[in-house]
Amino acid sequence: MKIDLAALNNWRGAARAIGGALQMFRPPPDLAPSAWCERNLKIPEGNAVPGYYRIMNAPIQREPMDQFINPDCRRVSLMWGAQIGKTMSALGCQAYAIGQRPRSQMMMQPSQGDLKTWLETKFQPLVDASDELRNLIAKPRGREGVNNQSMKSYPGGFLMFAWAGSTKTMRGRSAPFIVCDEVDGYRATDEGHPVSLLWQRSATFGDDRYLLEISTPTIKDASYIEAAFLAGDQRYFQVRCPDCGELQALHWANVQWEGRRSSDLADAEKDAEHDDHEPDTAAYACEHCGALWSDGQRIKALRDAEAVGGGWKATRPFKGHASYHAWEAYSTFRKLADIVRDYLDKLKVDDLQSFANVSLSRTYEIKGDGAEAGTLYAVRYAFPDHLPDGVLYITLGADMQMDRLEYEIVGWGENGESWSLAYGVLWGDPLAGEVFDDLERIIKERQFERSDGSTLKISASCLDTGGTGGYPQAAWDWLRGKTGRRIFGVKGYSPSWGNPIVPAPQRRRSGKNARKVDIFPVAVDEAKVVVMRRIAQTVSSAIQGGPGYMHIPEDREEEWFKQITAEKLVVRKGNVNRREWVLPSKTRNEALDCRVYAYAALKIMNPKLRVVSEENREAPVRTGEMPEDTTNSQMSVEANNQAGDKHPLPRIKARRKWRRPQ
Ligand SMILES: [Zn+2]
Repeated sequence: MKIDLAALNNWRGAARAIGGALQMFRPPPDLAPSAWCERNLKIPEGNAVPGYYRIMNAPIQREPMDQFINPDCRRVSLMWGAQIGKTMSALGCQAYAIGQRPRSQMMMQPSQGDLKTWLETKFQPLVDASDELRNLIAKPRGREGVNNQSMKSYPGGFLMFAWAGSTKTMRGRSAPFIVCDEVDGYRATDEGHPVSLLWQRSATFGDDRYLLEISTPTIKDASYIEAAFLAGDQRYFQVRCPDCGELQALHWANVQWEGRRSSDLADAEKDAEHDDHEPDTAAYACEHCGALWSDGQRIKALRDAEAVGGGWKATRPFKGHASYHAWEAYSTFRKLADIVRDYLDKLKVDDLQSFANVSLSRTYEIKGDGAEAGTLYAVRYAFPDHLPDGVLYITLGADMQMDRLEYEIVGWGENGESWSLAYGVLWGDPLAGEVFDDLERIIKERQFERSDGSTLKISASCLDTGGTGGYPQAAWDWLRGKTGRRIFGVKGYSPSWGNPIVPAPQRRRSGKNARKVDIFPVAVDEAKVVVMRRIAQTVSSAIQGGPGYMHIPEDREEEWFKQITAEKLVVRKGNVNRREWVLPSKTRNEALDCRVYAYAALKIMNPKLRVVSEENREAPVRTGEMPEDTTNSQMSVEANNQAGDKHPLPRIKARRKWRRPQ
């Protein structure tokens, strides 16, 4: 701006000059968030469609974003899975609260790591690509404003960061606009649920406050986002049939392909029983006239929806809280055939939960939340004299008690199928040490003969290191130096639902000046869900075997069945419902713990059993050691795997004994 000083000598000239200056200060037109984003946000390179943000690529994002300027709306909940842009919907509002209607805001993620990932892979690339944002946000290490890992400042406000695991980052901070990302990954503390705490603290902003909470849902009755969705006005996005013109929301039940026998997720096992699926024939069937829509027709219907009377429709009265459900078929990038392929893959590996959560944005109902001992007892049968043919890998799980160790040896096949090969008790006080020698002998010497005469040994073991007094220390002492032999220490912990079953290990010092021991935390609640689900599958299966099936030998004692089915998954009602495993008093559960630890050993090693299986078809594997290329260095997550697949194993220098037999 330049004011002509000479003109100030007369008032007419001055008015003209000041008018011209004010012209330059006139704010840009007040755009709605979606329109502002189209004008100012650039999607970074490396995304499906880089360049200026376009609503036509994600028609479902417009309305939830624009609620931000609806004076009657205080809360928006998005129960959205992957691929449909829930992160972008939040970023759009956050950018708008920086560039168009500046106000302070808070961004919460489940953990510090999640926050770092969001900053590095979502927020910063968007800022770097978009001039408007880059110019407004204070420069790092700049003299004006703040720009660091806990806060970014811009004219008119601050963007503050918090994570749910830290009361410290939440305490004493507040903002009128709050975004809570992946809320199903938050764990309620004694003080309450992290979202409720933030919301309560923002009360000082009165009617100015606005909450946007988004998440992939997790387990039924334990999902925060599902409860939030149900508390809101429950909106579904309607599109018009290109054939009959009727409006409708999209449902998984209406996706058709050759080979489909299920009518929805509830009877998915009907699809698992057949191998003649043709995902490339996938099409969407109109609920009213049955016409089959191609991907192109579906995407056009999505883009046109709002213009032809469709779009988001509430199914409950609006009381200041708008809630939205959408799943992968609402993506303009995702092909139905790919969604179907994903479904069939997940079905094959017994992981329907992640398909329900991530692709369909639905909670997953756990069947077998308390299996009956008697029904499982009934399916036991006499194993052959040799190792059952399906067994490709053997692990051991051991539970530590004050006067004994209990262990289970489990043989694993493809797709979660398992054989309980042995269960035993080793008597002796672990503090005295001898009982560990007994365990070591079993791990080292136990061999299982296969039908072709070759043998398989125990490839990996997990020992529980929980307990009080000197017991954890005794276990650490014994474990020191055994990682190379794949004997791992584990400790049960209870993160929120949806976390990896075995995240990265923690270092523990074993004795003074001694080398440290890696202890793997095991999300026991989640692992028990897997065990219970498999028990339920096993007792309801028409055939002996298949994905997830648990084979139990005939000579297994009755007590074992009582213990492995001892715990029940219950819902604790409260502000936010919580699902928890409960062990009735005077009941023992060592058998369940041993199974969980044997499963953890499998998860830590994560061998590619399909590869092993194919090798076996050519020639038998001579020892329990895996070929080099079959030991995956990553862990996968059985249940909802949002956060999974990023935890490296400790490097294990294994002496590879495997060789292809001549
Ligand atoms: Zn129709």
